[in-house]
Amino acid sequence: MPTSLAKLLQCELLEEHEFLELLTYEGREIEETAGRVSVEHFGREIKLRGLIELSNYCRSDCYYCGIRASNKAVDRYRLTKEEILEVCSVGEGLGLGTFVLQGGEDPFWRGARLVDLVQELHRCYPKVVLTLSLGEMSRTEYQELYDAGARRYLLRHETIDPLHFKQLHPPRQRIEHRIEAIHALKEIGFETGVGGMVGSPGQKLYHLALDLAFIQRLQPAMIGIGPFLPHHDTPFRSYPSGSLERTVRMVALCRLICPTANIPATTAVASLSSEGRRQAIEAGANVVMPNLSPPRFRKLYQLYDHKASFGSEAAEGIEILRRELSSYGFTAK
Ligand code: SAM
Repeated sequence: MPTSLAKLLQCELLEEHEFLELLTYEGREIEETAGRVSVEHFGREIKLRGLIELSNYCRSDCYYCGIRASNKAVDRYRLTKEEILEVCSVGEGLGLGTFVLQGGEDPFWRGARLVDLVQELHRCYPKVVLTLSLGEMSRTEYQELYDAGARRYLLRHETIDPLHFKQLHPPRQRIEHRIEAIHALKEIGFETGVGGMVGSPGQKLYHLALDLAFIQRLQPAMIGIGPFLPHHDTPFRSYPSGSLERTVRMVALCRLICPTANIPATTAVASLSSEGRRQAIEAGANVVMPNLSPPRFRKLYQLYDHKASFGSEAAEGIEILRRELSSYGFTAK
């Protein structure tokens, strides 16, 4: 066992060069150990979260993202309050205990209107945990959403290195703002999630080591890790996808540095390869987020090409998902 892996198992903080060593370590020991750690904490049970893609309007212009503001080819949509309540009732019927409202940074689903939606969802589904993933807002806005009943917020940091962050985003989007927002969410009391893409343009192994050191110190409640996948209408259209092997290694290392965090086997890893979900789960992922959005809108929330949103990725395909999970020895909760 590499010394740095033994140190991780003792809950010691690692230096970047030690994370680099673990990122390049050959063999399956890291994934197998992470898989065991996950089973110790969660059993062979995968948590299901219903994902609702609220809107594909976005004021941000992330170079990698298919729904970025500058992409004029996107057919924009936003769900109405009634449509959201309707899909939530479908989710409740399927026994899902968490709804994740995700979307572009849409000025419509913001402020008082969003607070009202969260209050209404909280009133109608008091037992359901409401998770939001709607981008950067002010501390006051986050506080209002918490007061309205939202309890989890996922805001990926994307990459902690400021120069790499600049390669992925236009100048007005700043890593400092992102980190400030993440700290505000934590301080308010949200179970806060961070994460990023593996294999994004310009990413060096060193950046992933920095990300791991950041995540280890932050100890977030959730970590979303998926491969970068190109979208044909973005400046990154000709870049290759992130690798499955490296994505799975990142999932495993995240599990080892944050043993009790919720780590999804992301839609992106399932879209990259038919092996993606299984490998991520075996390396420590403990959450899957079936898509609850009305089927007619799913193709419009295209963050990258070939995004999976039907079959085992979809809420109506939940039985296919359960069978798939059971074929590799897990049950869904
Ligand atoms: N607007 C919110 C935000 O920025 O946090 C949530 C929606 S955003 C589309 C959700 C995540 O999708 C991003 O954090 C990013 O990591 C991921 N994403 C976007 N484009 C991607 C791509 N081309 N490949 C893989 N993941 C991508």
